[in-house]
Amino acid sequence: MDRQQEFVLRTLEERDIRFVRLWFTDVLGYLKSVAVAPAELEGAFAEGIGFDGSAIEGFARVYESDMVAKPDPSTFQVLPWETASGEHYSARMFCDIAMPDGSPSWADPRHVLTRALNKAGEAGFTCYVHPEIEFYLLRDLPGDGTRPVPADSGGYFDQASHDVAPHFRRNTIETLESMGISVEFSHHEGGPGQQEIDLRYADALTMADNLMTFRYVVKEVALTQGVRASFMPKPFSEHPGSAMHTHFSLFEGDHNAFHDPDDPYELSATGKAFVAGVLKHAREITAVTNQWVNSYKRLITGGEAPTAVSWGHANRSALVRVPMYSPGKSSSRRVEVRTLDSACNPYLAYAVILGAGLTGIQKGYELPPPTEDDVWALTDTERRALGYELLPQNLTEALDVMEKSELVAEYLGEHVFDFFLRNKRAEWDAYRRNVTPHELATYLPVL
Ligand code: GLU
Ligand code: MG
Ligand code: MG
Repeated sequence: MDRQQEFVLRTLEERDIRFVRLWFTDVLGYLKSVAVAPAELEGAFAEGIGFDGSAIEGFARVYESDMVAKPDPSTFQVLPWETASGEHYSARMFCDIAMPDGSPSWADPRHVLTRALNKAGEAGFTCYVHPEIEFYLLRDLPGDGTRPVPADSGGYFDQASHDVAPHFRRNTIETLESMGISVEFSHHEGGPGQQEIDLRYADALTMADNLMTFRYVVKEVALTQGVRASFMPKPFSEHPGSAMHTHFSLFEGDHNAFHDPDDPYELSATGKAFVAGVLKHAREITAVTNQWVNSYKRLITGGEAPTAVSWGHANRSALVRVPMYSPGKSSSRRVEVRTLDSACNPYLAYAVILGAGLTGIQKGYELPPPTEDDVWALTDTERRALGYELLPQNLTEALDVMEKSELVAEYLGEHVFDFFLRNKRAEWDAYRRNVTPHELATYLPVL
């Protein structure tokens, strides 16, 4: 047993923890959990915990359904809000998923990201990310298609004292911090009930794990405040959607490979080639960064979401922004990818963005000039005339582009690539058959 495993076992005993939740993520980004008694943990470290993979979205075909969850002791955390019977805490660890023969499962999103990070590692890079996560606080989550009611009527940066949002944000942040997840900023976002919480940067694998924890914590804390949280990309037609802008940087040891003090954007040749890669492959990876039918209701003009492939520095309509927050500070040079929404699978999204950026670096892609046009103010025809490529307009178009992408197939691996396409085609098909309230209101009275 290694020292981290010993630390976990000692902590369980010292803190009298009765449940250990073993967490992993399915291909669509849903958190899965199996609770084990502390006495089982030594065995779980040695051999893993067996489960039926065919019952997990995207994990296995029936004939290969036996899978093994192996807890990663470096992710051990006590869950601060869980005190069964008022005394005993629970804890959690993320797992890597293995096949019965011990080899890593190709269906495990954590493994998809680990493979991409290994490729970055072979090129000498460590990848750091910093997400800005937006979501809505709502009074309820109606499941019958009726409109939810926002938990408050605040707007951007509002500090209201009479509603739950400030208390909710403070409790959430305290809970996250006590689990080792540092928060940099939090504020009310533009829509009524809409919040944003920005996590301090971490390496990409840690951050993907942190995001899964974050979504869980946010939903739990919301419940304690008598409200509900949703990461749905676009719950209201008339209010902004929930983005997950993500800042990326690549470090070579202690050196930020994206920084060049002599460049006007303080962006190195490596940083530029990374951005060029993200832009060139942007349409191919959109199905992964924006994976739901509803995601494409966000990527429209207005509401500050990107609609076309472009980059800029102050330009908030750009898909990639090179922010100038701390000029001269090498460690903070990073690029902000603005397509992702808060309901993506972070493991897969980071893997394909990193894949696109690394390909840009390896193939020496040239970065096109920045755009300071307000891409939103243009019509689609004007955008095309100016040479902007538009992002896919809906999930089915995104899947068509993804299906032809060698890059996405390589970075997701064949199993996840095939499952994702099949599953998402079915999602589109289920949607497409629906006659919507919009159609009834538009056509019924006049046709
Ligand atoms: N909510 C906006 C979006 O969907 C982003 C707002 C912002 O710039 O923070 O992209
Ligand atoms: Mg925001
Ligand atoms: Mg941002």
